[in-house]
Amino acid sequence: MTAVYPLSTSTYASPNHDHHGCRQAAVRTAELLCQQRGGRFTEIRKQILELIWESHRAVKAYDLLDKVKLKSSSAKPTTVYRALDFLLEQGLIHKVESLNAYIGCSHADRKHEQLLLTCIQCHEVEERTAERVMDAIAQALQQAGFMHQYKAVEIHGLCAKCASVR
Ligand SMILES: [Zn+2]
Ligand SMILES: [Zn+2]
Ligand SMILES: [Zn+2]
Repeated sequence: MTAVYPLSTSTYASPNHDHHGCRQAAVRTAELLCQQRGGRFTEIRKQILELIWESHRAVKAYDLLDKVKLKSSSAKPTTVYRALDFLLEQGLIHKVESLNAYIGCSHADRKHEQLLLTCIQCHEVEERTAERVMDAIAQALQQAGFMHQYKAVEIHGLCAKCASVR
């Protein structure tokens, strides 16, 4: 498929990041990927994805539920969790385990592992693929004979934006 993500090298933390375009591209790509894979991109799944993409901050499931409830007051936690499971399965979002929260993935069209840079001040999470880091980890796991289920590296600190105003 043709990439619809903006081919921008600017990071989320850069002042010229076009988040409107970034979010639109993410939702459009999700639509396309679901179409190609035969996954149903239902209204609630789309709504949850859009809410997650409101910013690059990691969002907790109960905050999503609160927002969904504003539109449909009968929404239940299971509705949100099921939508999150679908989005995770499709690789459209990632779970930030250390925060027990979710972020949108900006390269869901490619299989990848994540290096998540989590800002302790603004709570934005920048995703990097960092293949060499992941390869080194894979090697270490192999040496240890460790069968991993899930592999992502989460690093906490200050993003470029927050670090620059210190
Ligand atoms: Zn953005
Ligand atoms: Zn990703
Ligand atoms: Zn920050």
